Amino acid sequence: MTLQNYVGGQLVASSGSEYTTVNNPSHGEPIAHTPHSTVADVDQTVAVAQKAFLTWKATPVLKRASILFRYKELLEQHFDELTALVTRENGKTIPESQGDVRRGIEVVELASGIAQLLKGGRLPNIAGNIDGETSREPIGVCAGITPFNFPAMVPMWMFPMAIACGNTFVLKPSEKTPLTAMRLAELATQAGLPDGVLNVVNGAQEAVERLCTHTDIAAVSFVGSTNVAEIVYRTASQAGKRVQSAGGAKNAMVVMPDADMDSTVRAIIGAAYGCAGQRCMAGSTVLAVGPVADELVERLKSAIEDIALKATDEHPDSGMGAVIDAVACERLLQTIDQIEADGLTLVADGRQDLPEAGYFVGPTLVDGVKVEMDVAQTELFGPILAFGRVRSLPEAIDWANSTGYGNGAVIFTKDGGSARYFKENVQCGMIGVNVGVPAPMAAFSFSGWNRSFFGDLHVQGEEGMYFYTRQQVSFTRWDNDYVRAQGW
Ligand code: NAD
Repeated sequence: MTLQNYVGGQLVASSGSEYTTVNNPSHGEPIAHTPHSTVADVDQTVAVAQKAFLTWKATPVLKRASILFRYKELLEQHFDELTALVTRENGKTIPESQGDVRRGIEVVELASGIAQLLKGGRLPNIAGNIDGETSREPIGVCAGITPFNFPAMVPMWMFPMAIACGNTFVLKPSEKTPLTAMRLAELATQAGLPDGVLNVVNGAQEAVERLCTHTDIAAVSFVGSTNVAEIVYRTASQAGKRVQSAGGAKNAMVVMPDADMDSTVRAIIGAAYGCAGQRCMAGSTVLAVGPVADELVERLKSAIEDIALKATDEHPDSGMGAVIDAVACERLLQTIDQIEADGLTLVADGRQDLPEAGYFVGPTLVDGVKVEMDVAQTELFGPILAFGRVRSLPEAIDWANSTGYGNGAVIFTKDGGSARYFKENVQCGMIGVNVGVPAPMAAFSFSGWNRSFFGDLHVQGEEGMYFYTRQQVSFTRWDNDYVRAQGW
């Protein structure tokens, strides 16, 4: 099946002549082909979105919200279908895909209450008979460029808030996982969203570059790897757009000697190997402080032995799915070869006992890692967990801060003082205390720092609303001559 674009509520063929094959990662079999849309395709889509903006921005806010409310209901009705689609194109386990869709629906819920967020401020009688007030106004056509790892949630971080605020939207989903995005757009039309308000243009670099420079695009939201996030940030901001651009990460999990071992091990396993390690909030380095290290390694090793690698679309009990494609699989297996060649200890070796088909890499645990090593500094984006042994909490914090990223960091402890010291000194935007993956739900913004985020206002929450609106201030003078003339 060759995909088309979704423009003005209709399927429109792309004029691109190159394609990316979408494979089901569990089997390595092709399920669709994504066209690489051209500049002309993007221009045509933006023109449709620009036209739709003129009426959509004037649509009463409660009418916009009621469409989102219906959309939420429709997403609930299609929850199992969407979940299966995510598993099919991304390879996640069914519970992980359920989480992906659920987190997206939560943003639609937030956007349904947009009237509350959009209320401006008013200061009456700031001078004789003059009232001042502020309002939040939509900005125009907004673009969203998304990664493969959350085919439902990441697009829904963006477009529900953007359209609730009165903007129209052009989504460029990952060429590796475009099927969920297409279905999300079709369902939005079914919910009553007018044609042209939400559009999908499939493609890769050429389409992204055009979206970042097109004069009729007001704002660009990007989520993906740090290198591309930085390019998108520079290109689009140089073209005069507001940009929020989220990148990669290397998130540390610090375990204090007083941590509760059972819950800590469960949380680390979930954070490191959930979604096969392909989460920007994945815990990719464990830092064991002092004497806790030996017991922790042993317990992680035994928990890893219970993770069953199976095709996620056929086995709902699969403990971990495949990684996204053959390139990622090969890269990760070679990384494990290199780790072995460097003389590090493979407590668990993800090259062993792999299913015959599909892009599987097993859960891998590497002991003896030092802060300066590649495995401690580079985002590997797969199920490879680095284990470092440190003497103190300050040493763990220095390690966590050394990577230059700033998405997440977590601490496991029973001591509030240690947790507070950690929060105050670790340089990142999302902190977990006895929580493995501190990914914010929709009411909070997704707050990466440093090289994990370029821009100012983050996705979701109140900042999401600020990003997709601009402030208008007005001063109104009504003299009371008539009222006085009446003798009132
Ligand atoms: P990616 O950077 O390869 O691709 C992301 C998007 O950018 C895709 O739509 C792709 O088509 C486009 N793209 C790729 N190369 C491009 C180029 N040279 N020029 C213009 N556009 C280009 O990322 P990915 O592999 O799909 O996703 C994984 C990455 O995303 C990881 O680094 C992960 O940490 C990150 N991520 C970050 C967050 C966050 O909130 N910080 C969330 C999810 C994923």
